[in-house]
Amino acid sequence: SNALSDRINKLSTSATLAMAAKARELRNEGKDIIGLSLGEPDFNIPDFIKEAAKKAIDENYSSYSPVDGYADLKLAISNKFKRDNNLEYKPGQIVVSTGAKQSLANVAMVMLNKGDEVILPAPYWVSYRDIVQLAEGTPVEVPTTIETDFKMTPSQLRAAITPKTKMLWFSSPCNPSGSVYSEEELSGLAEVLAEHPQIFVVSDEIYEHINFRGKHASIASIPGMYERTITVNGVSKAFAMTGWRIGYIGAADWIAKACTKFQGQITSGANAIGQRATIAALEAPVSKIQFMIDKFRERRDLILSLLGTIEGFKLNVPEGAFYVFPDISSYFGKELKGKRINNASDFAMYLLEQANVATVTGEAFGNPDCIRISYAASEDEIREAVDRIKKAL
Ligand code: PLP
Repeated sequence: SNALSDRINKLSTSATLAMAAKARELRNEGKDIIGLSLGEPDFNIPDFIKEAAKKAIDENYSSYSPVDGYADLKLAISNKFKRDNNLEYKPGQIVVSTGAKQSLANVAMVMLNKGDEVILPAPYWVSYRDIVQLAEGTPVEVPTTIETDFKMTPSQLRAAITPKTKMLWFSSPCNPSGSVYSEEELSGLAEVLAEHPQIFVVSDEIYEHINFRGKHASIASIPGMYERTITVNGVSKAFAMTGWRIGYIGAADWIAKACTKFQGQITSGANAIGQRATIAALEAPVSKIQFMIDKFRERRDLILSLLGTIEGFKLNVPEGAFYVFPDISSYFGKELKGKRINNASDFAMYLLEQANVATVTGEAFGNPDCIRISYAASEDEIREAVDRIKKAL
């Protein structure tokens, strides 16, 4: 409608959510769709976290919490940062929000002025671009390919920097590519950033624990980076708590204060029961969630070996998160069952319609040669899905 704002008219619908909606629609029509489009663990929340939530209800945690989160939750987050990341964030440097997605939106809204450039190594998480644009920032995409494991090199970063560059946003482990930056690789980027002290970094570490490579590296822990990095994390992925909507940042205290001020006008803070449950999640040893990480690794190995038997799929070996991001550009220009495949969106739509498997086009993540397949699904579903894809191709 014309009555809607330019702001909303310019915003794109989240492609991952749109694909999930389309899959749901086909399912309602009676089609047997295997959904590999959503970034959502298929595990139940561990019982000890549920118990903490039930206790919080009984203890009447039903009023507004402090805008930036309960003090004991922020202490638990501070301890977690020290334990897992060797990062010293005092409780006053921490802001708890309604999912990491809101944490990112807060940061964009408090850090960006119109025209400020934000470097996004592509492929990037689907919402970065729109969140930056909502805050009137200008996304600057740095395309990477499967040849560098979808990682941005220091020289690519250097070439993308202009006097208008304000921030760099990236995720490691990366959604959608599963790539994990090593400490050396992060140091290489930090060396370039050292020449440009005006640039801030958003380090989205929400897949931190889902890492098959070894120790997670936080860019804020690299010399010179602490003051200029906003470390974003949350409980959605590692603790299978997507619906609880709890995320958080650690940052310089002036940035944390600004996010709290912003959030105070938008949500008044994250939901109370979710916050109480998050204390239990973060205080538990990581060994309590290791079973999920082990399962993800098995499924990664399974889906890689199965997809490897399909002609025309180029694959990297994702070292974290729960996605594969095959380059399927060899199909472009071909006809499949009378349908011409021009791009990754056509390809993903073809898989949905002909194989009844929901994936997401790489275009949504800034990479038009790939599709994203989530393997947060059972082994049977993975086997069946790849079998159907193979037949449809
Ligand atoms: N960052 C990345 C890279 C993600 O993949 C996601 C979820 O898909 C989020 C942030 C948002 O997480 P949350 O559920 O905490 O809002």
